[in-house]
Amino acid sequence: MSRARDVPVDGNVIEAPVDRAMMDAPVDRLGRRFADLRVSVTDRCNFRCPYCMPKEIFGPGYEFLPRSAILSFEEIVRVVSIFGRLGLRKLRLTGGEPTVRAELPTLVRMLRETLPEIDIALTTNGSRLAAMAEDLNAAGLDRVTVSLDSIDPEICREMNGVDFPHERVLEGIDAAAAAGLGPVKINAVVKRGVNDVGIVDMARHFRGTGHIVRFIEYMDVGTTNGWRLDEVVPAREIIERLAQVEGLEPVEAAYEGEVAKRWRWTDGSGEIGVITSVTEPFCGDCTRARLSAEGSLYTCLFASVGHDLRAQLRSGASDDELHDRIAGIWVAREDRYSELRAAMTDDLPVLDRVEMSHIGG
Ligand code: SAM
Ligand code: SF4
Ligand code: SF4
Repeated sequence: MSRARDVPVDGNVIEAPVDRAMMDAPVDRLGRRFADLRVSVTDRCNFRCPYCMPKEIFGPGYEFLPRSAILSFEEIVRVVSIFGRLGLRKLRLTGGEPTVRAELPTLVRMLRETLPEIDIALTTNGSRLAAMAEDLNAAGLDRVTVSLDSIDPEICREMNGVDFPHERVLEGIDAAAAAGLGPVKINAVVKRGVNDVGIVDMARHFRGTGHIVRFIEYMDVGTTNGWRLDEVVPAREIIERLAQVEGLEPVEAAYEGEVAKRWRWTDGSGEIGVITSVTEPFCGDCTRARLSAEGSLYTCLFASVGHDLRAQLRSGASDDELHDRIAGIWVAREDRYSELRAAMTDDLPVLDRVEMSHIGG
């Protein structure tokens, strides 16, 4: 038996002692087995989506992490390989915008060489995908998810906050599919009064292409986006609106912990998904951990505090010490923020939640 760190640490940061022999597939206090890791490779982004990085806050004076603070590729690979010992099945690279990190395909190649069996995916705003898709595929990336909130050019420009032309994102989606990174998942955050008018057009546009649009309920992540419950379009309403296009029937989840609820068009023209984080939380199946660009581990998208792994990485800790620490963090986990929020929508707790751009969704 070895001890990861004393408990409790830093408010909601709790870590537990671990027995290494039992910790190669750790289970948390609510019975959830670790399986998925999201790694944010940068806190920077070339977009300013108002629901994530509103430009009034993330303006020219905003201080992003200095280069020395963010994990090197070697450090990321080392941490991910330790998660590999803990039962990692799916790895997703995210950000900020992951494609603004220099040499991203090199990182993908290093990860692929170290962990040949795992599924490696990327979430991107698509702005640089047309130029990078082939390199990413050659480096060993399996799949890509592209965020695109509308197929209406004006709504898109408004929702990316920097007037970025949506055709270039569409080119990126095509390039990803052509490079073998498909079927491409397309994430659209739905905000009432902003882009909800376009959900039917969006679904129509991608029907029959093999790409899968997933409509995401606008979430109260971070503290800067001014989230209001009345701006959330419930997934139930999204499905009702889409069912006017063509019949829809539910599809079984492909694996434990799949966050999107899947539906297929009854005429066989493909699938769509809805992510019901607000109206039907799925904390009970949450098998996911998140690593921020500066090496803090978060066990919930809505956590206030992360567990600093970087200090340990940079002070000569052994792989076994890191393994035990991470396993201890997982077994002590009892996060279920969205379930708690759903239970108290009239009186939401005011928490200093981490920003989405910091841990990558
Ligand atoms: N920059 C990349 C992108 O946009 O795909 C990766 C990082 S982004 C934080 C990851 C995902 O989080 C995106 O699909 C984005 O739409 C989603 N997201 C950001 N803020 C959100 C919010 N307030 N509610 C729901 N989804 C959000
Ligand atoms: Fe950037 Fe992605 Fe956040 Fe938009 S959602 S601001 S693209 S990190
Ligand atoms: Fe997982 Fe936290 Fe989201 Fe619940 S609120 S599904 S525990 S990340």
